[in-house]
Amino acid sequence: MLNIVIFGAPGSGKGTQSELILAKYGLVHISTGDLLRAEIAKGTEMGKFIDSLISKGDFVPDELITKLLQQKIDEHKENCNGFIFDGYPRTVAQAVTLDRILDEIDQRVSFMLDLQVDESELVERLLLRGAKSGRSDDNLETIQKRLAIYHEKTAPVEQFYQHTHRYNAVSNNTTVANCFNQIKKIIDHFKVQKIG
Ligand code: ADP
Repeated sequence: MLNIVIFGAPGSGKGTQSELILAKYGLVHISTGDLLRAEIAKGTEMGKFIDSLISKGDFVPDELITKLLQQKIDEHKENCNGFIFDGYPRTVAQAVTLDRILDEIDQRVSFMLDLQVDESELVERLLLRGAKSGRSDDNLETIQKRLAIYHEKTAPVEQFYQHTHRYNAVSNNTTVANCFNQIKKIIDHFKVQKIG
C-alpha cells in the first residue's frame, strides 16, 4: 500500500491535490475535515458540538477524531491501494496515533507531502474559498486563529516525519498543475524504490 500524509497550512491546497492524487493512483481519501463536516450535516447533538468548535477554529477532541479515522480505515483496508490522510495528523500526538493504527494492520505512512505556500497567499485563498463555499471557518478572524494554531501545534509534525525520513517539501505558490507535477515525481520515485 501507498499511504500518504498530505500536509500544510489551512488553504495550502491539500484537498485539491488529494483529488488529483487519488484519481491517478487509486487511493482512498480520508479528510478529517470532511468527516467532521459530514457529522455536522447530520444535525445530531454530536454534530452541533463539532460545529461549535470548528467555527471558532478550535480542534475537535482526539478521541472523537481517532474514532472517525479508525472507522474509515476499517471500511477500506481490505480493498484499496492505500490512503491519503488529509487534515490528520495535526499534532505530534496524532502522528504517533496514526503510526500505531497503521501498524495494527501491518502498514505505515509511506511519506508526508508538505505543501508550502506564502502566508499572504494563504489568507487570500481562504477568503476566496469562504466567499464561494460559505464555510463558517473561512472568515478573517477564524483564519488568523487557525494559522496561529497551525504554527504552534501542527508545524512540529513536520519534524516528526523528517526524523523518520518520510518528509517531502512541495512548493505550492504556483499553479495546481505545477504542484501536482512535483507530487507525481515524488510518488513515482517512491514506487520505483520501495514497491518496484
Ligand atoms: P483546513 O485544513 O483548511 O483548516 P480542514 O477541513 O482540514 O480545513 O479542517 C477544518 C477544521 O476541522 C479544523 O480547523 C479543526 O477545527 C477540525 N479538524 C480537522 N481535522 C482535525 C484533527 N485532525 N484534529 C482536530 N481537529 C480537526
